Amino acid sequence: MKAVAFIGLGVMGLPMAKNLVARGVDVLGCDIAAPSRDALAAAGGRATAPEDLSLEDCDAVITMLPEGAHVREVYENLVFPQATPNMVLIDCSTIDVEATRALAAEAAAKGLAMIDAPVSGGHAAAGSGQLSFMIGGDEDAVVRARPFLEEMGAKLQHFGESGTGQAAKACHNMICGITAMAVCEGYALSQALGLDAKQFHTLCKGAAAQSWTLENRCPIPGVAADVPSSNGYQPGFAARLMAKDLRLAQTAARAAGLETPFGAKAAERFTDFAAGDDGDLDFSAYYRTLRPET
Ligand code: NAD
Repeated sequence: MKAVAFIGLGVMGLPMAKNLVARGVDVLGCDIAAPSRDALAAAGGRATAPEDLSLEDCDAVITMLPEGAHVREVYENLVFPQATPNMVLIDCSTIDVEATRALAAEAAAKGLAMIDAPVSGGHAAAGSGQLSFMIGGDEDAVVRARPFLEEMGAKLQHFGESGTGQAAKACHNMICGITAMAVCEGYALSQALGLDAKQFHTLCKGAAAQSWTLENRCPIPGVAADVPSSNGYQPGFAARLMAKDLRLAQTAARAAGLETPFGAKAAERFTDFAAGDDGDLDFSAYYRTLRPET
């Protein structure tokens, strides 16, 4: 397999990069954080600080960064100055549609192929190559990116032109954010009414309330194994990122002239929560705003 530069080795990027290494891809990882670089090197990848990154001989550049500002900075300062038309540029971060379209247009003006390919699925899916990709970009670029995406994901959906992957992701995550609040509130009420937490969780998993969030983010500590609440609410998916995604959905809704009242409320609540001390915890820690004694 070919050589990939992978920029952003965080909760998602590190397992994605390690999965590529395990599948025989030559991965050059890059992150501002030394521990992330060390972790990739320990797994058999090559790793470098941004100031030493060389894209020479890379067939693809994959970015997995927190927010639009990081993505813009990395493409403007690191990727565009070195990229060549034989490479395909794949941004897997979740950012806004407008910034995505602007970057793709800048890439096209330089003769570079770039797609947006945000993901659904947590770090476990990232580590096992089972992510879902929501893809936007020219067909030619998507065809070139497909072999790399297929190593990382089980489901690939191409929605259309540049930015449509991010549009799909914004709508998808608005549903997840609203659902997360519903799960936290339902579980908090179950505790306020004195129900047994494990029994209630068993009920919900097998009944109409079931959802990915409920299944994978039971917010009450000690009820489900291997979920953030049973591990000090370590992410997982950080509350600050959930807040960011819900704001992106509101930006998209405003641009489309659509009111989404529940999405707006979820964006407001998660933004307030993430502005406090717990923004780096998993989003399911929002439960503690309802049950502070947890
Ligand atoms: P994270 O904050 O854990 O990781 C981001 C990484 O980028 C960090 O290691 C950070 O050091 C690095 N970074 C920041 N600026 C950099 C720069 N200028 N150069 C190089 N490295 C830089 O975030 P994450 O949870 O991995 O999420 C990444 C993206 O994926 C976000 O847009 C998020 O919304 C999206 N996402 C996350 C999840 C999840 O479950 N965590 C799921 C789906 C999508």
